[in-house]
Amino acid sequence: MICRSASIALTTLLSLPVSGLISQLSINPVAAQTNRCTLLQQRCKEVTNIPIQTSPKKSKSRPLAQAQVKNWAWVYSVMEKVIRANELDEHTWRVRVVNQYIDNAFASDVNLVTVYDGLLDKINGDDAALAFIIGHELAHNSQRHLAVSATVNAEVLQRLNNEAETEIQKLVADEQQKFQQQGEVRGGVEIACVILGSFCRKVPIQAGAYLYLNSQGQPDPNRIEQQKQQIIAQKQQEFNKQQIQLGRRQESEADEFGYLYMVKAGYDPKGAFRAMEILARIPVPNPSIDVHPPATERIEALQTLTRKVSSPALVAEGAAKLRKTKPLTYAASSDGQSLLINSRFGSK
Ligand SMILES: [Zn+2]
Repeated sequence: MICRSASIALTTLLSLPVSGLISQLSINPVAAQTNRCTLLQQRCKEVTNIPIQTSPKKSKSRPLAQAQVKNWAWVYSVMEKVIRANELDEHTWRVRVVNQYIDNAFASDVNLVTVYDGLLDKINGDDAALAFIIGHELAHNSQRHLAVSATVNAEVLQRLNNEAETEIQKLVADEQQKFQQQGEVRGGVEIACVILGSFCRKVPIQAGAYLYLNSQGQPDPNRIEQQKQQIIAQKQQEFNKQQIQLGRRQESEADEFGYLYMVKAGYDPKGAFRAMEILARIPVPNPSIDVHPPATERIEALQTLTRKVSSPALVAEGAAKLRKTKPLTYAASSDGQSLLINSRFGSK
């Protein structure tokens, strides 16, 4: 968290028959929260179309389907609670549980959270760790990180392009001035006018003296474009650096909000550290270009945060909200691949 990659295409997902699954369920969300096994078993039936196998030997014959179903139910039950405890229930959310053994989760699109089975396996049964991971992804949405990133990146790109344009124009203008002062063309022969006292002595111009002008002293579009691309390539490095800095600020903010969200929903604050410790064990191929701060820094930041905030106060605040509200209902999303967690308006 976790990656906010919008680059992972939906087509890479192994689609679950979410619509068919949900349409045949008539689960009371309250029951779903208090008795996950019941929901799990009912969903198992829908997904596998076979009776639930309860013995280890029998369940082994359908381990994947059961694991998937369990994870969908688990993620919904935790996410619904975190959303409601933090008054994020004004809007509908979507969640996808992807059947790929990848240790990741990410926020993308509007109010869409994706979690992979691989990551869920690593925290299996740890509601608090899952609440932190989901809280982190909810925060990327609630704090508009995707929209801000897109805007900032567009602005930075525009600025760097403008800077490149200005630089190249200045280079051309400098050469034109130099050409006017020192060089001229006479009869197709390049010569330069060298001022010696009050005399002007004309000498041949050295080949390649002008990088962006042709022999007539006019800007050469091809040469200028070539130089412009070189400048932009250099600027790209600066752009990448700024992207990483912005990404790291946003990841830190998502950690902070994710922690507050999960604590307010009544989950054990230590779950955040358990989740982070798992993430710290995942190799990072190229840390210098990772938009996430190093895991050790993230853990230290969480430790600092725990000293600043009062968990009992947060828990009390969240508990009051949970008591006053009814569990959010769910439905199949029209995208066919995710579960809708309805807003409090849609849950009536
Ligand atoms: Zn993140």
